[in-house]
Amino acid sequence: MARRKTPTLPAPQAAPAKPFRCGFVALIGRPNVGKSTLLNALVGAKVAIVSPKPQTTRTRLLGIKTFPNVQLIFVDTPGIHQHAGSLLNKRMVEAALTAVQDTDVVVFVVDAHKGLTPEDEAIAQRLATIRTPLLIGINKIDLIPKATLLPLLDRVAALLPNRELIPISALSGENTQELLNMIIPALPASPALYPDDELTDQSERVIAQEFVREQLFLQTQQEVPYATTVVVEEFQERPGKTLLFIRAVIYVERQSQRAIIIGHRGSRLKEIGQRAREQLESFFGCNVFLELFVKVVKGWTNSPGALHELGL
Ligand code: GDP
Ligand code: MG
Repeated sequence: MARRKTPTLPAPQAAPAKPFRCGFVALIGRPNVGKSTLLNALVGAKVAIVSPKPQTTRTRLLGIKTFPNVQLIFVDTPGIHQHAGSLLNKRMVEAALTAVQDTDVVVFVVDAHKGLTPEDEAIAQRLATIRTPLLIGINKIDLIPKATLLPLLDRVAALLPNRELIPISALSGENTQELLNMIIPALPASPALYPDDELTDQSERVIAQEFVREQLFLQTQQEVPYATTVVVEEFQERPGKTLLFIRAVIYVERQSQRAIIIGHRGSRLKEIGQRAREQLESFFGCNVFLELFVKVVKGWTNSPGALHELGL
């Protein structure tokens, strides 16, 4: 039975509506401090891949969260680190530093469990002079006793005086809502820049590529994940949106790395494909058929030509 509509009343004299706010929030910090985990927590969906290994995130990506009166556009960055040896690493650091300019708020993420490292101090020094509003998220507090938190807060406050600090756990979600509430007033009045149901600026192909790369980081060791990249060659939605067909190629630098990824009788590759497929099915909300191949391209991490060809 159709529900009866309540009669429309004359509109009450509305209080002046709060201006819509929208802006960019850069997440900055050393590799592995939890920037991508925090981005996912703040967006409320997994849009950035995460692993215990540093430098999982290779390029800048956006995570978008929209409320009735505000849209926050989080900028995840590859970690800033000083040993930018290879060309790939240099490009990652450039991307991180570019993210600080042109944003409305910067959140500097520090790993409370690891404590302040010289790299954190170097980043803090660079951030001390910026005019952009800066908040400091002291992350991973689920891993430390309260007694070690207080001296850490003091040290960070000494490095960045007059900036707001907040202890958080991106993993458990502790204080992440509070962090949001601190960010919002610093955003400019602006209309939304993205549709309200958009979660990221990454294309569906890139998301597929990243979820496969995440499994390479989780399931292979030492230099192997750093020597791999993933390119999606086919991404097809089957009619009725019931099935996604995805074919991706994992590029490695050496034959030995290919053998490791494939594993005994293909067992490793099968596991990588299965886990990535599960993640993709939950992101896209439909069944996914994922086909993976492994190919060798000698020295791709140091070759501008190869990087360009692979779209990096
Ligand atoms: P990023 O390199 O800064 O983007 O760091 P990631 O988000 O990839 O996280 C690096 C590792 O730290 C992963 O294993 C995460 O699960 C872990 N991690 C991130 N945030 C937290 C946290 O609040 N608590 C704990 N215990 N682990 C965390
Ligand atoms: Mg990351």
